[in-house]
Amino acid sequence: MRLLLVEDELALSQELSTELARRGFAVDCSHSGSDAAFMGQSEPYDIIILDLGLPDISGLEVLKQWRNNGISTPVLILTARAAWHEKVEGFRAGADDYLSKPFHVEELVVRLQALLKRASPQTGQELRIGCLRVNEERQIAQWQEQDHWRDIELTGVEFRLLRYMLLHPGKIMSASHLVEHVYDFNDEKESNVIEVYISRLRKKLCRNVIRTRRGQGYFLDADVLRETDS
Ligand code: CA
Repeated sequence: MRLLLVEDELALSQELSTELARRGFAVDCSHSGSDAAFMGQSEPYDIIILDLGLPDISGLEVLKQWRNNGISTPVLILTARAAWHEKVEGFRAGADDYLSKPFHVEELVVRLQALLKRASPQTGQELRIGCLRVNEERQIAQWQEQDHWRDIELTGVEFRLLRYMLLHPGKIMSASHLVEHVYDFNDEKESNVIEVYISRLRKKLCRNVIRTRRGQGYFLDADVLRETDS
């Protein structure tokens, strides 16, 4: 999950990005409004955390620019400005959620997860299709076997990749598309590594749930998962 964190307080930005990376987000940081406006426009983020008080352009202006330019990425405003009329202004500018500082990271994370689920065609409390689900807290996959869920340990990249595919079941995605959503800006982006991770996931998931469409990419076969669900 690619996440853009817009926050000009360096200490908070660093602490938050570490915490979010630990929870399976590929995080890019921006410390000014103009940078944020550009990055949000040019990189395919899945979700954005936006501070309002920025040194150059205000977060509210940045958000309005994105929305005017058709960027519909879910945005959570994170700010010390918490008067009711400021919240209303934020929502009117196109925000999807609002959290006031000081806050607990736990609350931020569950709000992000809720926004991501709402934005995806896949809905429901947990990220599950048939006999396969991911456990966000433990960052593992779980496979249903008769009356229990068998744990499948995943590396960080494997987890991010599988979660992304579960959020978009049936959608054919090229290796370069997957790279854009699984790695952050600073990572070495090699689309052929996706092939390696896909084959590792296939081995761990036992069945042919991740299919290849030659010349186009990969997709998660939701039908296979539902058939196996008994
Ligand atoms: Ca600020």
